[in-house]
Amino acid sequence: MNEEELAKIKEKALSEHIPIIMDDTLEVIDKILKEKKPKKILEIGTAVGYSAICFSRYLAEGGRIDTIEREHERVEEAKKNIKKVGVEDKINILEGDAVEILPTLNNRYDIVFIDAAKGKYPFFLEQSKRMLNEKGIIFADNILYKGYVMSDYNKHKQRTAVRNLREYIKEVTEDIDCVTEILEVGDGLAISRFN
Ligand code: SAH
Ligand code: MG
Repeated sequence: MNEEELAKIKEKALSEHIPIIMDDTLEVIDKILKEKKPKKILEIGTAVGYSAICFSRYLAEGGRIDTIEREHERVEEAKKNIKKVGVEDKINILEGDAVEILPTLNNRYDIVFIDAAKGKYPFFLEQSKRMLNEKGIIFADNILYKGYVMSDYNKHKQRTAVRNLREYIKEVTEDIDCVTEILEVGDGLAISRFN
């Protein structure tokens, strides 16, 4: 992997305010992936490919990441970035709305990373669970959404997002098939480890 190119991709994304995974969140996921060595990862929300490139280090031999992004420009940039770093054999981008694409997929995944439209998290969870392998792990980024989720905040345009993030937390917390931790790293990270 070309580390110099990866550093450039990160800098550019940050300068353009593209919401890439935060360092402390990445550190937590890195540790888990290093141990798990997943064969298949599903990512919902590619942006410019930064997190997918980072995760690709930990794939088992022959492993692959499927990642979904609806913004054409970002898909194009992600493809370029993945080539620059030299991991094009490991990452497959699916262009389109995850709400439409997910129900058409019938793959099995060891890891899912949810990092897209916050108002759709309960739906993303349902679809991810359907395709998750035994002992799979589902990560959900931005789960605490700037603190709104754990406060009595329920105003303005973020209301639907906050309601759905709370719904996501309720579902994974009550699900007897998984154990969930909510970490205050980055913008909040939910880690649900399934049986
Ligand atoms: N995972 C990336 C950051 C993703 S930012 C990283 O850490 O590097 C969230 C991305 O999800 C944005 O690029 C946005 O366009 C995309 N997105 C939001 N809702 C989506 C949806 N319903 N379907 C597909 N992509 C979506
Ligand atoms: Mg995020």
